[in-house]
Amino acid sequence: MKIAIEDIHDEGITVDIDEPLVIEGHDHPYMVRAHLELHRIESEIVVDGSMNTEIELECSRCLKTFQRRIDDPVHMVYHPIGELGSEAHELRSDELDLGFYSGDAIDLWEVLREQIMLSLQMKPLCDAACRGICPKCGIDLNSETCSCDFKEEDPRLQVLKKLLEKRKE
Ligand SMILES: [Zn+2]
Ligand SMILES: [Zn+2]
Repeated sequence: MKIAIEDIHDEGITVDIDEPLVIEGHDHPYMVRAHLELHRIESEIVVDGSMNTEIELECSRCLKTFQRRIDDPVHMVYHPIGELGSEAHELRSDELDLGFYSGDAIDLWEVLREQIMLSLQMKPLCDAACRGICPKCGIDLNSETCSCDFKEEDPRLQVLKKLLEKRKE
């Protein structure tokens, strides 16, 4: 869904989206709903609003697929690609979510894909307490137990131990 830069006038425009979005690495598209306001300040496009969707992920511990709901505010600032080149452009701290557009249009699908990627930066877990699969026999430790000889340590306990060790130093 491309919006021509020249169509974004001073008062800004509002775009509502409720459509399937294809995301690289996923078999089927996901319904994405978004309410976005676009403003243009010279060649800079400010995108504000919110979006939500539910996407399917694979747990990095137990490898089961699960649904993750994304319900995020959107705040991005887009510059025309190449504009930032060698010229010193002081980035304001509120411009950390900086993107680029090329040509005379901004692709809102790219904006939403970027937002989803930002939201998925961490390793996906079906549950923060997921026990994963046994590294030896491969059973799902969430539903079964095995007698394999390996030390199962809660990763949260390890963090705590490290903190305690640091304190002693
Ligand atoms: Zn899991
Ligand atoms: Zn086992």
